[in-house]
Amino acid sequence: MQTVIPHWLTKQAEISPEQIAIQNGNGSTLTFQQLKESSQNYARKLAALGVSSGTHVAVLSTNKQEMVVAIHALSYLQAVVVLLNSRLTSEELTYQLKDAEVSFLLYDGSLAPLSEEIPFSQSLSFTAVNHLQPKDVKLATEINLQTPFTMMYTSGTTGFPKGVVHTYGNHWWSAVGSALNLGIQKEDKWLAVLPLFHVSGLSILIRSVIYGMTVYLLEKFNRKKVHHVILTKKITMISVVTVMLQQLLDELGEDSYPAYLRCMLLGGGPAPKPLLEQAKEKNVPVFQSFGMTETASQIVTLSAKDALKKIGSAGKPLFPAQLKINTPDENGVGEIFVKGPMVTNGYYNNESATVNAIHNGWLATGDLGYLDKEGYLYVVDRRSDLIISGGENVYPSEVESTMARFPGIKEVGVTGKADPKWGEVPVAFIVTDQTYNHGELQCFLTEHLAAYKRPKEIHEVDYLPRNASNKLVRLELKKLIK
Ligand code: ATP
Ligand code: MG
Repeated sequence: MQTVIPHWLTKQAEISPEQIAIQNGNGSTLTFQQLKESSQNYARKLAALGVSSGTHVAVLSTNKQEMVVAIHALSYLQAVVVLLNSRLTSEELTYQLKDAEVSFLLYDGSLAPLSEEIPFSQSLSFTAVNHLQPKDVKLATEINLQTPFTMMYTSGTTGFPKGVVHTYGNHWWSAVGSALNLGIQKEDKWLAVLPLFHVSGLSILIRSVIYGMTVYLLEKFNRKKVHHVILTKKITMISVVTVMLQQLLDELGEDSYPAYLRCMLLGGGPAPKPLLEQAKEKNVPVFQSFGMTETASQIVTLSAKDALKKIGSAGKPLFPAQLKINTPDENGVGEIFVKGPMVTNGYYNNESATVNAIHNGWLATGDLGYLDKEGYLYVVDRRSDLIISGGENVYPSEVESTMARFPGIKEVGVTGKADPKWGEVPVAFIVTDQTYNHGELQCFLTEHLAAYKRPKEIHEVDYLPRNASNKLVRLELKKLIK
């Protein structure tokens, strides 16, 4: 059965035309009515270019209003938006353009040098599109929830990035699931500083249109700037990743944020417990969450009422979602499987990856976790990163978060090394500052980690291998082992 709803931006412009949809860092704003009109005008210009229903159009941009307009414009044409990560190399982007069968590439002028390096003939800057003569075409008035809307690539932490297709329905249900947990309040304003080309950022835009909520758009994360914006612009919600939370807490010092900041949604990767405790002490309303590109952002989130008593947990699956732990071991740890209408139907042109990941509607996340007695999820680590040493499971994340507490260690990455006696042993790579003392670290580790979890080698390095999403690539760490 097909589920059809009115076009969400048109609908929101009818319900709350004067409400601010986008507030930019430079002070300019756009109401829902203006956003609708700009997007529809832009759609007609894209139509002049030859974009129509089903055309794959890539967007390469940092968080800019033009990008938001382009995304909505493409929905008015029922085209598929392929969101590109502006931190990728031209070679990586070239691969994604080909893999996603993109017909047109739209880019923000500031990224012209990067886009010029990409051998792709149908590239246009946002401004160039604006100069086109609009074509009078019929724009979508409805949205079919089964229709693909966006495509974006996974971060490529465990291998080659895969193109995830999201339907309108995936985004719709993600927004609804979030609202049923976090609630919607009239004065909500969500700060979007995470890139819109990741699902954590894009999902804020979709929520904005569905809830009638203002998005405060910032181009990039700068701790002082974000801190200032929270304090002065009545931000009620913000999505962050761990490093941002750390920097904001540092910036906050002994102070706390005003009470109107009601949710700091934390996702994208593991969060060290000491950091969460620090946030708790400062009364920062952190909501831990678990999600993947494949789940159209958070699928498991800790609710406000549980945030304090379940510190370290990612929470419970959102209302429309289900979760199970597949083949748990004696400690209850197994692979996290999720199911729900926000979960992708599969990867683009990659049947084998799709078949591997999705079984009877359940998505195998590749992550290990367990549920406590009350059904709260604790994410342990990626299945592929598990180290088995002398028959004992060692989770690199656990070792990393313990080591990260030691003074002088700025960053740490742990991986397994083949060992004739134990099968595998943990090995650590650390980035340190002058205060670091190796002898004291050994005492600290003896005190805090069981012998089999303690790294057998500790290498000091200048930096850790990270991908364009700033995630630690443990596969690359393996290559550093001699
Ligand atoms: P690839 O799939 O290409 O290897 P990726 O999995 O890093 O890349 P994303 O979709 O950006 O790509 O990230 C999703 C992953 O992030 C999850 O599968 C999980 O490993 C990690 N993650 C997300 N939330 C959490 C969390 N709360 N705790 C621990 N890890 C998390
Ligand atoms: Mg993944």
